[in-house]
Amino acid sequence: MKDVCKDAKLIIAYGTCACFGGVQAAYPNPTGAVGIGEVIGKDKLINIPGCPPNPYNILSTVLYLLTFGKPPEMDELKRPTFAYGRRIHDHCERRPHFDEGRFAESFGDEGHRKGYCLYKLGCKGPVTYANCSVLKFCDVGAWPIGAGHPCMGCTEPGFWDTMTPFYEHLPKVTIPVSEGIITDAEKIGKMAITGAGAVIALHAGAGVIKSRLKKKKGEPQILSSSNEKSEKEEG
Ligand code: SF4
Repeated sequence: MKDVCKDAKLIIAYGTCACFGGVQAAYPNPTGAVGIGEVIGKDKLINIPGCPPNPYNILSTVLYLLTFGKPPEMDELKRPTFAYGRRIHDHCERRPHFDEGRFAESFGDEGHRKGYCLYKLGCKGPVTYANCSVLKFCDVGAWPIGAGHPCMGCTEPGFWDTMTPFYEHLPKVTIPVSEGIITDAEKIGKMAITGAGAVIALHAGAGVIKSRLKKKKGEPQILSSSNEKSEKEEG
């Protein structure tokens, strides 16, 4: 890499292994695998992560370079913000179900067949930055969540360590548990994440969904969930 890249004007790392080390960099990382940026530095680097990465994102990046003669705007992980500036969750087709507390509880159950939110099945869309939910893949408009499978967070660094177990939901997430009426969509989407094993505060805070809750008048019921105790048990 050092020999090949030293005179390059720009370097595009394509795929999560190239960008962040991928599965072979998972703990305990016996081979010491790293992303390209750890080898050659990040000054000339553009990361297009994903497992697989979306081909339209590298095509768009190359076209941008050819058109404007400079790299597109990037985030702190060197990912183009046009593709990785928002979370999967922000534009997910199942988001209305999340906001109103409708979740698939297991694969194949009624909620799953109805297209409910996959958060409880392990979806990492709330903490994953990528445009899969908008761009989808190939020319058939398919993508994992659309096919009923949770997002695995594959565009994030170290996702094999930070996003596993893949079929368990994120820890300490606050979610709505009752159906309600969304009155302020602008307030939905606020989140705080503090690294691996993160404490996440997800949307649906008091005031987002107003009254009309069947069980309780006034502010909506909010449930703090954890891996140890399911929302269903608590609800
Ligand atoms: S948790 Fe996953 S399935 Fe549910 S709305 Fe967010 S991204 Fe979509």
